[in-house]
Amino acid sequence: MRLSTTDKLAVYLNHYTIEPRSYKPLAGYISENYKVTDSSDRNWLLKVYQDSSEIPNAISENMVLNYLHQHGVVNISKPITNKHGQYLTAVDDDTYCRLLSYIEGSIMTQQHMTTELLQDFGAKAAKMDLVMGNAYQDQVAARRDKWNLLYLTLSKRDIDCIREANERKIVAYFLDQYEAIAGDKVHLLRHSMIHNDLNDQNVIIGDNVINGFIDFGDMAYAPLIFEVAIALTYIMMLSSNPIVDACTFITAYHNELPLQKQEVKLLYYLIAGRLCTSVISSAKAKDEGADTEYIMISEKPAWKMMRYWMSISPKKITNAFLRATCFQTDDPVTLTARRENRRQTLIPSAIKMSYKNPIHMHSAAFQYMHDVYGNTYLDAYNNVSHIGHCHPAVTAAISQQSRILNTNSRYHYDSLGEYAEQLLSYFPSSLSRVFFLNSGSAASDLSIRLAQNFTGKKKMACIESGYHGNTQMGINVSPYKYNGRGGSGIAPQILELPLAKLYHGEMSSADDYLADAKQRIAHSIDHGQALAGFIAEAISGCGGQVPLAPGYLRGMHQYLSKLQIPLIIDEVQTGFGRIGSHFWAYEMHEVIPEMVVLGKPMGNGHPLAAVVCTQDIAEAFDNGMEFFSSFGGNPVSCEVGKAVLNVIEEEGLRQNAMEIGGYMKEQLSSLAKFHLSIGDVRGHGLFLGVELITESGKPDTKLAQHIKHYLKDRYILTSTDGKYDNVLKIKPPLCFTAANADQYCEVLKDGLADAAHYNL
Ligand code: PMP
Repeated sequence: MRLSTTDKLAVYLNHYTIEPRSYKPLAGYISENYKVTDSSDRNWLLKVYQDSSEIPNAISENMVLNYLHQHGVVNISKPITNKHGQYLTAVDDDTYCRLLSYIEGSIMTQQHMTTELLQDFGAKAAKMDLVMGNAYQDQVAARRDKWNLLYLTLSKRDIDCIREANERKIVAYFLDQYEAIAGDKVHLLRHSMIHNDLNDQNVIIGDNVINGFIDFGDMAYAPLIFEVAIALTYIMMLSSNPIVDACTFITAYHNELPLQKQEVKLLYYLIAGRLCTSVISSAKAKDEGADTEYIMISEKPAWKMMRYWMSISPKKITNAFLRATCFQTDDPVTLTARRENRRQTLIPSAIKMSYKNPIHMHSAAFQYMHDVYGNTYLDAYNNVSHIGHCHPAVTAAISQQSRILNTNSRYHYDSLGEYAEQLLSYFPSSLSRVFFLNSGSAASDLSIRLAQNFTGKKKMACIESGYHGNTQMGINVSPYKYNGRGGSGIAPQILELPLAKLYHGEMSSADDYLADAKQRIAHSIDHGQALAGFIAEAISGCGGQVPLAPGYLRGMHQYLSKLQIPLIIDEVQTGFGRIGSHFWAYEMHEVIPEMVVLGKPMGNGHPLAAVVCTQDIAEAFDNGMEFFSSFGGNPVSCEVGKAVLNVIEEEGLRQNAMEIGGYMKEQLSSLAKFHLSIGDVRGHGLFLGVELITESGKPDTKLAQHIKHYLKDRYILTSTDGKYDNVLKIKPPLCFTAANADQYCEVLKDGLADAAHYNL
């Protein structure tokens, strides 16, 4: 016959001298826990264990609690002996129990978090840790538990339980950061016995004071600073003023138990590590069939905090914590001055910087970049970091492959063929060969050589305001450069065609542009200068985010095909899903070019570029002279390339570019209705342009510069471009969110109002 809980508890409590009157089950995952009220209305905590493997831990826990009590730490449960003077009662072969004094009060909630309470929390935690440091237990030190941050890898192996790729990547990012910055260092920090789980549920509050800490079941022998990191994680999750509240706690803790600078400097990463353990653990529990609804409620604050953590600079947090413990922070002013000086002396001045006061960057996470002062910038500009800055899939590919093999394409290795196959699967069957290189410039340069070799001709056609690279050949086909400041004008053997721009363009239709282009090409041929190729972007980036007039490229390709002139499409800026509706921008125009130039986003910052071409063009190039690129297609690059493609798919980044880009374009277009200075909003996906004009409809370069700096002063990165430098360019990492788009548009709106006010 099965006993009722009341009867069972009566059996257990019969071993003690108390006279139970009522009981209430409490939460607990290792033991069954009960709040027992005795006949004189005093409360007790009864812990019942059904698993004998937990007994050594229970014994250690009792020993530590007793030690703490003996040494004056009273705000914790006191183990109570049974009638035989034992702290642990063996009820039968499978059942053990412990009785403890009960800490009265309520668990910590947001309402409790006053300055006084946080000070009391910090001070009491430190006082407890001071004593606990002498309560070393072999049993505890030997435990390898996922809740001990030293064993974060035990959580890492379960990361795939987080099904949503966009959430998993954030956790992977923080695990990566932890490993890179804290992973080795934590082993060298002072270790101590710690509670290791001072979360809000384990902190009992009385009248604006801490009544006690409960649940020592996760005790660990670990770096002392973990205690602080864990308490801070939960304080910050609860708090509406997280940094201030965290600092109050740290200062109070530090006043009792002085922390070391090297410990404080790791806190940002340790807090991130604890968040990772928490969300992975929830995901795993869901996987194992636990109460999904309960988990989802309890994990929500952790996710919110994780996103907040991602969007805030580690430096800002670290400096705040250093100040809270009276340690000196790095002085970025002197550092910056020294580095600026070095740059000015050693780096040629032709290499320019963005903004009147350039930004000194320190670190980055996905769509956020952090400067040395701890400011965080929303990155709406850097299309190289296509899948997000410091994406863990890329850092893993680089670090893993570079430890195994990095060599050149004169040897066989699997990743070259694997990546080529994966990349070419994004192209129609006619584009079946790929040359790997290391920069967009090297790729466009090679594409021109390929065209010249294939046709036996020299002359290249390009489009007004286009940019294709920094080699001599690249500059020759880049009116943006040769017609720009310092440029020496068009070179011989180049045919420049007008940019088929519909808004404020030279002509009003694709047909007009086409007729004009054909006539110029025919004229060139008639004068003995047949074309080797035509290079263009489907949306002109440097031209000011100008989509070529619909129909132009298609008509042009038909015309070129008849003359057997290869069309080279430069997808360096527009490729890899950025335009949302298609993977490549040329696809919008229903053409299949003979060559495609790839770069920037291909390696997410790792130097990786390519020319994809037809078999005929590739074969014609093999005339006996070897083509060799020392780095092109090396195993590390190939692994990076594969990782980037995988992430684009897993995280649905093309779709995100379409959705968020579409949303942002709508928002910008609504702004344009109220601001006549916005002449045109254009582009596709997350490749957008906002053309600014004066009252009389002329390009407004001054306003564009003002807005660019206005946005920068409000921590948003954007740039300007176009023939008159009057177009705001928006081309962020593809993980940009609707909230990011709103932030951009809000600040842009304020910037335009501000400019109107000052009559700029
Ligand atoms: N083509 C286009 C369209 C570009 O925008 C660029 C770089 N801005 C290049 C080619 C050259 O690429 P890289 O800087 O990697 O040499």
